[in-house]
Amino acid sequence: MINDELNELGRFEGNVSKVISFYLNIDGALFPRHQDLEPDLNAQLRKVEKDYLKENHIGAEEKRSVAIDLERIDQYVRFELDRDDRRGLAIFASADQGLWQVVTLPVRLPNLVVVDNQPYTTTLTSVIEQYDFYCTVVVDRRKARIFSVYMGEIEESFGLFEDNVPDQVKSGDWASLRQTKIAHHIEDHLAKHLKRVSNKMLAYYKARRFNHLLIGGSKEVIPKFKEVLHPYLKERIAGEFIAEPDTSINSILLKSNECEKHYEFEREKELIRRVVGEENNGKKAVTGLDNTIQAIERGQANEVLLPQSAEIGGYHCHEGHFISEKDVRRCPICKRGLQSKKDVVSEVMRLASAKNVKIRFLKYHESIGDNQQIGALLRYAA
Ligand SMILES: [Zn+2]
Repeated sequence: MINDELNELGRFEGNVSKVISFYLNIDGALFPRHQDLEPDLNAQLRKVEKDYLKENHIGAEEKRSVAIDLERIDQYVRFELDRDDRRGLAIFASADQGLWQVVTLPVRLPNLVVVDNQPYTTTLTSVIEQYDFYCTVVVDRRKARIFSVYMGEIEESFGLFEDNVPDQVKSGDWASLRQTKIAHHIEDHLAKHLKRVSNKMLAYYKARRFNHLLIGGSKEVIPKFKEVLHPYLKERIAGEFIAEPDTSINSILLKSNECEKHYEFEREKELIRRVVGEENNGKKAVTGLDNTIQAIERGQANEVLLPQSAEIGGYHCHEGHFISEKDVRRCPICKRGLQSKKDVVSEVMRLASAKNVKIRFLKYHESIGDNQQIGALLRYAA
């Protein structure tokens, strides 16, 4: 999973050779054909050539290593990259250090290339931080399976485990006292089984600290299971669905995704309501491209809300100093003319991650309040 990859990259910190951190937006909605990726790919590779390979103060050995990495990235993106439904690509490479790490995400990443002594993971981290870690438990009268669900991927965390609970008594058999006793005995076994599952869940929570819990089971078992859950876990329940432990992992993933979607839709709606309310009353939020950029620049923004895949047109300075809704002609920093761009979300993300502003993609809502596509929650009132 992505966090293991990030930890792995941490090992390369503080080394002397150059590491290329190469980010590319590979969103199929924006770049339908594979060759549509080439203009941005080329622009980024040329930028490294210009900034590093032609610089006199950089040693020949370092240049050689960077050149090998550029070539490998070029070949990889052109011929090997399988986008599937992935929207963001990050490559960390250093031929000298034997580093080659490719990360693809189901969400977009900005175009960005950094050559430094360590992998530049800030942007990746600020994008993935918005993703919560879900745990799905599927439980029946005898068995249980525990899964982790993260960024659209599922992994089984504990294999099937089974308790020996006797079969349920059929309703017609309930007449005699003896049968009632058997029924009690069975219920007792079931309660013990559910308690064991719950203990296992608590241990798993302590080890992995998941954010939300999804429960799969039968209509009969789910309420009984919820009763015995530890309060820590109870407050993390984000959804329930009908399933059996023997249900296929793919089907459990689909059902988990459904629950997650429903839960996050509501949370996103609440967040938008908060932004609109704060903008109008508390003044601790802004909407619109220019207001958002200014808030980020001033260090006032805490979290920026961006569309997951819609485009926001605008103007930007080629050197990355400035982004604007309208063509104000010159960059206030370098005084060069601004360029029109059909989508400046990459530029906004780059700026936000440079200023340590949290990034949150709006996945289910297209606009914030009065038809704005972008906004920010502020640390202090505007
Ligand atoms: Zn500029």
